[in-house]
Amino acid sequence: MADIFDFRSLGLGDLAQGDLFAEPEKPQVKRAAPEIKEVVQLGEKDVLFDKSYTCPVCGEDFKNKTVRTGKNRLLRIERDLRQVYTPVDQVKYDVVACPHCGYAALGRFFDSPTRMQIEGVRTQICINYRPQKWGEEYYTYEDAKLRFQLALANAKAKMAKSSEKAYICLKLAWIMRGERDVLDKEAPDYEEAKRENEQIELAFLKNAFEGFVLARQKEGYPMCGMDEPTTDYLLAALAFEVGDYQTASKMVSTVLLSHSASSHIKDKTRDLKEEIVAAVKAMAK
Ligand SMILES: [Zn+2]
Repeated sequence: MADIFDFRSLGLGDLAQGDLFAEPEKPQVKRAAPEIKEVVQLGEKDVLFDKSYTCPVCGEDFKNKTVRTGKNRLLRIERDLRQVYTPVDQVKYDVVACPHCGYAALGRFFDSPTRMQIEGVRTQICINYRPQKWGEEYYTYEDAKLRFQLALANAKAKMAKSSEKAYICLKLAWIMRGERDVLDKEAPDYEEAKRENEQIELAFLKNAFEGFVLARQKEGYPMCGMDEPTTDYLLAALAFEVGDYQTASKMVSTVLLSHSASSHIKDKTRDLKEEIVAAVKAMAK
């Protein structure tokens, strides 16, 4: 059982040293047991296509699985803004990874590393990188977790902003949640696997929360594509998820008083406020 910041299976053991955000504590949690069977989503490969990229670090061309827009339907948006699609969990395909050198990032950050960041990736990732094999037809959740871990290791190596690292952690939490939905409920170790999955999700949510708190102090907007009220709403939701109701209430008030928040975000914030009040009441009982 390895912890979530153990990059050794990718040949990147040294990166496990030092905190992700250099400040808060990092959780030591186990990774889901590899023998867990996923219920394969039928038709997943039909919704995907191979998208071509040129790696900004090594210059090689390669292809990554990508979700075909229009073939995947949005089912709902969850409290922490996770978008749930059917038939394919789109988040699994959010990391672009170069199979030649190991450079990987969330799609929105892939093309734009600075010269300094490329240097960091070359010296800390490329020279140690052990080539991985990802799914030929589609990515399993195990594939997705490794690809996100690689993106996180790259973010560390290139000293990415806190928001980028926090966003990777948030999406890793969503990956855990997505995986939980497809765990084989008939398997004898289902309950244990589910519990472990929930613990790992919470650890990633905590890291995402801490990272976005730091990002809010230091960075401007848009942050990972989000405006200020949306980021503040997300912080409130993450604070709620990790049980920090005081911060959650504070951020809810900030959003509700904001002149620039859209009515959609204000509606979501009011719903969250009710959930916080109910949770605090339940705690007092
Ligand atoms: Zn490359």
